[in-house]
Amino acid sequence: MATVLKRGSKGAAVKDVQRLLNAAGATPTLGTDGDFGEKTEKSVRTFQAAYDLVVDGKIGPQTLAALKQVTMPAKAARPEPDKSAMLQHTAGVVAGRDVASAPPNVLSLKLLDTARPIRELIVHCAATAEGKDYTVDDIRAWHKLRGFSDVGYHYVIYRDGRVMVGRPIGQVGAHVEGHNTGTVGISYIGGVSSDGKTPKDTRTAAQRASMLWLVQQLCKKFPITKVTGHNEYAAKACPSFDVRKDALSKIAA
Ligand SMILES: [Zn+2]
Repeated sequence: MATVLKRGSKGAAVKDVQRLLNAAGATPTLGTDGDFGEKTEKSVRTFQAAYDLVVDGKIGPQTLAALKQVTMPAKAARPEPDKSAMLQHTAGVVAGRDVASAPPNVLSLKLLDTARPIRELIVHCAATAEGKDYTVDDIRAWHKLRGFSDVGYHYVIYRDGRVMVGRPIGQVGAHVEGHNTGTVGISYIGGVSSDGKTPKDTRTAAQRASMLWLVQQLCKKFPITKVTGHNEYAAKACPSFDVRKDALSKIAA
């Protein structure tokens, strides 16, 4: 029978689990003292809830496997072309089918509520070259140059699958002319090929999985009736794929 670690457990195995929880973004960061106490248990529960695991605060085989899976890309973190990124982070892809999976930073990510009525999610790309990483701060700087007060999107999905908060969800975004009221803007890093201009769906497996997860979470929170792409409202390629033909469009009620 596999060992189950729980409150009161001590030793090297607990230390390993605390390290994994920290790598998964435990907030606040756990002391890796090898002593399974209240904080460790709370962190395990948060992790289990985020992964739709049985929330019992114990480390059994399934929770351990999920922890190892989600911390895998962090360990292998290095600049890499798209292909290897897909090989390293296959958590969200089963036999070529898109499956939602929580982002690697799920434990530090806060998806806030808002009283602002939200009915629709609109998907974008950052229009950055394939294989290159950019941050929310980069996009914020570009958008400020265009006269926006802040980054125009509410969420930005990094190439490694991390979901980052942009403009606070309670504030109206600046992402689609005439459609910013009642909507949330979600963007992913990428969207054009390595020449920097040809539209291309450059989403990594991790980005697809996290995008599905984010849309699922937002659809649970708000009465969202549709998920659309910027290109349905403007003569633009953004987000460089047809949301209507993507698994994303099937999530909203
Ligand atoms: Zn757009």
